Amino acid sequence: MNMPLPDHGPLPFNNLLPADPERRRAEEEAVLRAVRSGCYILGPEVDAFEKEYALFCGSPHAVGCASGLDAIWLMLRAALENGLLRPGDEVLVPANTYIATMLGIVQAGLTPVPVEPDPATCLMPAVNIERALTPRTRAVMLVHLFGLCAWSAEIESLSLRHNLLLFEDNAQAHGCRAGGSRTGSFGLAAAHSFYPTKNLGAWGDAGAVTTSSPELAATVRTLRNYGSDSKGSFPLAGRNSRLDEIQAALLRTRLRFLDADNCRRRELASLYLRTLDTRKVTWPLQPPEGQNVFHLFPVFTPHRDSLSRHLRLNGIGTQIHYPVAPHRQGALPSLRNLNLPVTERLHATELSLPLHPSMRSADVERVVAAIDRWNP
Ligand SMILES: *Cc1c(COP(=O)(O)O)cnc(C)c1O
Repeated sequence: MNMPLPDHGPLPFNNLLPADPERRRAEEEAVLRAVRSGCYILGPEVDAFEKEYALFCGSPHAVGCASGLDAIWLMLRAALENGLLRPGDEVLVPANTYIATMLGIVQAGLTPVPVEPDPATCLMPAVNIERALTPRTRAVMLVHLFGLCAWSAEIESLSLRHNLLLFEDNAQAHGCRAGGSRTGSFGLAAAHSFYPTKNLGAWGDAGAVTTSSPELAATVRTLRNYGSDSKGSFPLAGRNSRLDEIQAALLRTRLRFLDADNCRRRELASLYLRTLDTRKVTWPLQPPEGQNVFHLFPVFTPHRDSLSRHLRLNGIGTQIHYPVAPHRQGALPSLRNLNLPVTERLHATELSLPLHPSMRSADVERVVAAIDRWNP
């Protein structure tokens, strides 16, 4: 099962099973424990995961839910229900995020305002946030894209100065640190996705909201369970967005290995960074104030399709994150006419190379050698 692949065999873009058989056994045992408990929705595994994940993030509260998209909707709806936001308020969001960030904002009844990223870091810089402010701007959504920490002291002080709420989309950077803090603890609330490919991934869909506010946490708990605060009482119109025991049991086990996995991702990434030919591809610069936990290893080249074809012919899988920017999608017609050249260039030139914790250094060397042989 774990035989090293010969160098000419396929090197898939991702592998969602841990290489260590001990770890696989621990994961299967955790899931069996939940299966045998006879309790499947919002039980002791979910309670324990919420406590452990809150502690891990350094946030006072965590509430499990069904997906990352739901987590975005839940945290924003809770802010609306608590009077912190009003319907239609503008939320500044990086224009180059995954579309789910924008969909969550729209579905909560708020107005997403896409902000151009800095092409060097792929992150939304404070100066662009400042430029996008209007009298209706009420919040900033940080997106820790590709595993890069999007928080900065400058954005935090700008938010305070302009009385903006700070939210985080932490689908791609679980466990990422800046100073003594982790993603999920920088803003008023953060949305987390545990989709299988994420740094902390389930065996299906799962998500969570972390928040520093006990009121917001209570409202998210109500909203994720139809809007019910106690048996038979429905003060709010919520959704069914509950986390199940099987996923929570698996996530508890995987959380124990998250720092080690992120460390392995960073080691493999630093091998790419030391050996890739800068004349052929570029990549996002390290953010000055936070870590990169390398959810992905994106590179940029104007000849992206040629590189992807060349690697495929060498048995190496790649993916594009993401082929079309959110404002160009039929799902978001109100953003259709925006002119966002930096975002469009990033989307037109991005290619993600294989990077996951069960890869070997030799796999990275093989990708780098294949790129060395590539002539665009
Ligand atoms: C994956 C992802 C989401 C959505 O998470 P789901 O669990 O798939 O709903 C939201 N935002 C970003 C940035 C993502 O990468």
